[in-house]
Amino acid sequence: MTTTLFTNTRTRSEKAFEEACTLMPGGVNSPVRAFKSVGGTPVFIAKAKGARVWDIDDNPYIDYVASWGPAILGHADPDVVKAIQKAAELGTSFGAPTLAENEMAALVIDLVPGIEKVRFVSSGTEAVMSAIRLARAYTGREKIIKFAGCYHGHADYLLVKAGSGATTLGIPDSKGIPEATAAQTLIAPFNDLNAVEALLKAYPGQVAAILVEPVAGNMGCILPECGFLEGLRALCDQSGAQLIFDEVMTGFRVALGGAQARYSIQPDITALGKIVGGGLPAAAYGGSQAIMATVAPEGPMYQAGTLSGNPLAMAAGLVTLKKLKAPGVYDELERKTLRLTEGLQRIFDEQSVPVAINQAGGMFSVFFSDKPVTDYDSAMAANRELFVRFFWQMLDRGVYLAPSAFEAGFMSLAHTEELIDYTLEAAEKAIAEAL
Ligand SMILES: *Cc1c(COP(=O)(O)O)cnc(C)c1O
Repeated sequence: MTTTLFTNTRTRSEKAFEEACTLMPGGVNSPVRAFKSVGGTPVFIAKAKGARVWDIDDNPYIDYVASWGPAILGHADPDVVKAIQKAAELGTSFGAPTLAENEMAALVIDLVPGIEKVRFVSSGTEAVMSAIRLARAYTGREKIIKFAGCYHGHADYLLVKAGSGATTLGIPDSKGIPEATAAQTLIAPFNDLNAVEALLKAYPGQVAAILVEPVAGNMGCILPECGFLEGLRALCDQSGAQLIFDEVMTGFRVALGGAQARYSIQPDITALGKIVGGGLPAAAYGGSQAIMATVAPEGPMYQAGTLSGNPLAMAAGLVTLKKLKAPGVYDELERKTLRLTEGLQRIFDEQSVPVAINQAGGMFSVFFSDKPVTDYDSAMAANRELFVRFFWQMLDRGVYLAPSAFEAGFMSLAHTEELIDYTLEAAEKAIAEAL
């Protein structure tokens, strides 16, 4: 392999996107895919295998998007594909209980410290939405505290100071959300315990939950500072608010047991998504036996789903989690991610480019910033123009990074050292051109 620029073009993607724009809003079914924050035309993917994706013009890329996290084993893992095929032949959905759901529930309960009972749903949005409803039902309170730049899916009361696409597009607040709904959501800066404490004082006995991405991943990857998660746990214990970890991204990503295992902090409620479905639409929320007893039909909090616990998604999730349970997997993932981030640090240092690189397990971010990035404001202060030029230089060299300065990067187990080293070579040339 060589890291020279492709001679290939992306004319088929350009044509396809033109057509897509006449058919779907912005040509896409999820905003970040439209490449708005980097300009230009999104790459249409034809197929993927292992650490690589191919576009419809036949250009290969080393993929650090990984379907935004789920593809932790690499794309089209043979065991996952086989499990899906086998399940499909037995029928794709029944709307009735299956053994796969039992097996999957037992596995999730076994792996995630804060979950004693679990409910499967179909998307991360649904998982967090239900977790919030559960906290409200359980506490009889209405307000929630979330952190600026954290993304928790697109439920009305959560699209307030949200990250991800909403950050990229500069619309932290979406149109179409009633003011009264947004007013139930209180905002604090990430890593700022004093701000949380002040909100709890200002609204005594009214806060149902503190909702947090324990490692933020939707304003780029931002780590919890020492004592932050412990502090949230203590504030919840004092105030009676439920601590909700949105581990839709971090679950099975920063450690087998998620961020709660990595940092040894037990939340009251956990939301899972992305990896848990093994690349198919599945997500989950869970907590203690006592709190989950609130959920229908056991308790008075209603929540349902036609395709919840779908047999194909359970099959894909089961194989994925079983493979992740093998000894040494997370050491390997961390080692690969560090090979990349340490290599990048060296390259940027050599070229005197100020960067703040954050990493936890298999997720990472490179901010072009001369200061540490610890919250939404410091993320926003990073050099976006340089990122955009770097992004296109990398894409043209066959490295597919998330098309936004505010999305985390994802390592997979299928990334070989050779592919990582190729990425580093590409980065060295790309940054020289981008400066
Ligand atoms: C992706 C994500 C969600 C939303 O999940 P969807 O499956 O896209 O609805 C929620 N929370 C976090 C932390 C996420 O990363």
